[in-house]
Amino acid sequence: MAAVTELHAYRDAVADCTRCALAGGRTQVVFGSGDPNADLMFVGEAPGFHEDKQGVPFVGAAGKLLDQLLAGIGLTRPDVYVANVLKCRPPGNRDPMPDEIEACESHLWKQIELIRPRVVATLGNFATKLLSGRPTGITRVHGQEQETTLGGSRVLLYPIYHPAAALYTPRMLEVLKSDFARIPELLGREVGPPPEPVFLTAVAAEPAVQLGLF
Ligand code: URA
Repeated sequence: MAAVTELHAYRDAVADCTRCALAGGRTQVVFGSGDPNADLMFVGEAPGFHEDKQGVPFVGAAGKLLDQLLAGIGLTRPDVYVANVLKCRPPGNRDPMPDEIEACESHLWKQIELIRPRVVATLGNFATKLLSGRPTGITRVHGQEQETTLGGSRVLLYPIYHPAAALYTPRMLEVLKSDFARIPELLGREVGPPPEPVFLTAVAAEPAVQLGLF
């Protein structure tokens, strides 16, 4: 419960963020919405026109598709938490710029730290690259879950296509639907503690000579 209060306090603190130039063109900061204790968190790219006006992520056409996909696995928006890499709308819905991501990312890390989801589904390239820390694009990694530490907790990171990209590409929509269908299974998975520091254990157990250190 304390995390809920903290999340709301953090949202209020971010409401007048001026860390990047997007502050000048926004209607409002679109912090995120949903259950602050959600097991499942989605991370998109950035608010669009409707999100900027309403202050809620994924309320436009891509959001309607997200709602349908959630319904397909028996969930609704209040069951999950939805946020974006950028909290403010880029002009004309252009791609996020590296300096904007850098300025904004600590807001997302803080959200993950406070919500402590079990599964973080990244929607599209920007969220996937930021949270995986790798440059590999969504086409290669979609549907491949990976156990990792985000915001101080062990989670399953699950990259999937962005609903906006799937809206007008039937083949991509089929892939998104089948990746989405695996989410319930991932939510039921036990995520272990951080792995043992293998190298240190090996050094303690083996003479240095056998490890080829000398
Ligand atoms: N696309 C996103 O990535 N986020 C939104 O909130 C809406 C569309």
